[in-house]
Amino acid sequence: MSSQILKFFSSVLLKRRTLFLIFFFSLTTGCLFLMSTHAAEWYQVQTVFDGDTIVLENGLTIRYLGINAPEIRHKKNKEEPFGNEARKENQNLVLHKKVRLEFDQEHQDQYGRTLAYVFLEDGRFVNRLMVEKGYAWVLYHKPNIMHADDLLKTQKAAIDQNKGIWPIWKKSEGLFFGNAQSMRFHDVKCKFSKNIRGKNKVIFHSMIDAFKNGYSPCKHCVNRYRDQ
Ligand SMILES: [Zn+2]
Repeated sequence: MSSQILKFFSSVLLKRRTLFLIFFFSLTTGCLFLMSTHAAEWYQVQTVFDGDTIVLENGLTIRYLGINAPEIRHKKNKEEPFGNEARKENQNLVLHKKVRLEFDQEHQDQYGRTLAYVFLEDGRFVNRLMVEKGYAWVLYHKPNIMHADDLLKTQKAAIDQNKGIWPIWKKSEGLFFGNAQSMRFHDVKCKFSKNIRGKNKVIFHSMIDAFKNGYSPCKHCVNRYRDQ
């Protein structure tokens, strides 16, 4: 009889403990949710400069982290292939919309632009969307590599699906030299290909091979492909 009473009380205690735990967890997750939504600051996008740079209404220039979009025509520089398409896509995504910023290790680049990952109100990740649509490629930028794996995975899918710029890059066969330190690659004609130190030198047999491994082309190499 006494053991039955003990069982009864211990089951009641267990239930109370379970209820308490459920109550405690819902309270903490609720608080965390409220904190995360309240902590986020939202900014209106005033101008879209190109596929990876925007200006907010507070005047802050934002350079999307982890990606590089082809350049538009600017001052003396000619448009790179898909430069205008990339800008147009970025306009469709963020112009006059509210965005939230997420930062990595470095908050500014050498030009005073704010480096950020950009998110829309519906939760979509703009930097990734630009890569997904083939209007930007992965730019590995140490130490800002929080989303590098995610972006590279997205890029591989965009390459396989021939999105945006990829059919153009796919035409480039031949030897390419990567620098494992900077994560940039060069073709054989590029003077910078000769400066890569032995242990950092990685050989690729196509441009796509280099891109799929997370390397991005140096500026001089991109310009050469633009002029072809
Ligand atoms: Zn180069």
